[in-house]
Amino acid sequence: MRSMKIGVLALQGAFREHRDVLERLGAETIEVRLAEQLRACDGLVLPGGETTTQRKLAREHGLWEALAEYGRRSFPVLATCAGTILLARRVDGEEGLSLDLLDADVLRNAYGRQVYSFEARLPVSRPGELPGNDDGPVPAIFIRAPRIVRVGPAVSVLLTFRDDPVAVRQGNLLALAFHPELTGDDRLHRYFLGLVQAGKVSRSRKVA
Ligand code: GLN
Repeated sequence: MRSMKIGVLALQGAFREHRDVLERLGAETIEVRLAEQLRACDGLVLPGGETTTQRKLAREHGLWEALAEYGRRSFPVLATCAGTILLARRVDGEEGLSLDLLDADVLRNAYGRQVYSFEARLPVSRPGELPGNDDGPVPAIFIRAPRIVRVGPAVSVLLTFRDDPVAVRQGNLLALAFHPELTGDDRLHRYFLGLVQAGKVSRSRKVA
């Protein structure tokens, strides 16, 4: 396998856990805090955390527009929880608070106070969709998770929880409402690395 360099946005939130999973899977990782660091990245992880803080820090670090540009250039992005909120079109009904890369609307902290954080097992609906010949349910930890309340026609739903989409893909973007880095089940990280590998191959063909 060609070596893959994965940037993990490291302004705030659960970025170390993503690094650990990706390195265990053989990828090289870079903690991204500056726009120019994105140039070296074959793919990018937007971790969970606190959206308001991440947005503020990304703007202060001059990263906001660079992140939008990175996604628009078709580099693979894995977004989890707060990361998914950053990718969405509308957040709590408002535009302009997010990068607007993913044709989806989200509501923050929308699973209710009593179940702010919970664990679920998500059935895989299409056999063979996730890597590793493993169609067993995906364990998922939701921590004050966003609810994905609308997806556009270009968005496919990979996993649902009580009929809500909680893992969706739109081309190069893989967005999850939950935290896959906390469970030890690395199928979604491997799915993402598959997109990164495919992106590298298609870019090298364009250059050649
Ligand atoms: N509730 C957080 C927010 O709205 C997201 C939570 C998470 O990333 N685990 O920013």
